[in-house]
Amino acid sequence: MILILLGPPGAGKGTQCERLVDRYNIVQLSTGEMLRSAVAAGTEMGVKAKEVMDRGELVSDEIVVAIIADRLDEPDCSNGCILDGFPRTVAQAEALDVMLNEKDLVLDCVICIKADEQALFARIEQRAAETGGARSDDNAETLKKRLGVYHEQTAPIKPYYAAKGLLNTVDGMKEIDEVSESIFAILDK
Ligand code: AMP
Repeated sequence: MILILLGPPGAGKGTQCERLVDRYNIVQLSTGEMLRSAVAAGTEMGVKAKEVMDRGELVSDEIVVAIIADRLDEPDCSNGCILDGFPRTVAQAEALDVMLNEKDLVLDCVICIKADEQALFARIEQRAAETGGARSDDNAETLKKRLGVYHEQTAPIKPYYAAKGLLNTVDGMKEIDEVSESIFAILDK
């Protein structure tokens, strides 16, 4: 099973991913996490990505597409995966289609977690407080930028997948368990 989990920053993609990983025995591929690892490791790509990430902007399509293409070839992806934070632009979605086709893989479902913007600010502030600022992009100013980028560059992938009949939307403002149940109901159909 190959899934895409879509939604604005702070919508709860990470939390829901953990549950999907357990239930369906698939791996989570988070481009944000992979980029943060590259930043922590101080690789050349990490150094470049950090500046962009701290501004709340998107790293180039080329970089993230290459990261995902390599990662999909790892043996732990053989049972499937959840793409968390990828694709984030229509160009990435198109590149993913080509990549899956080349690898003889099929995208099963896209789940969009809808969330209220005011609530997202509160959540990100809480996440920043709880993690002691572990993520340098978890603050109100960067969130505003990240939300703008989401609306401008990522939201247009919704009609892209709707046209393919793959898009499903869940209400991310409900309790975490309820959101999970809505996602399971879609996937178990
Ligand atoms: P995330 O953890 O998914 O919120 O991602 C954190 C940051 O990493 C984003 O704000 C971007 O700067 C960068 N990033 C993560 N995934 C992508 C992607 N698919 N395309 C471009 N930039 C990304």
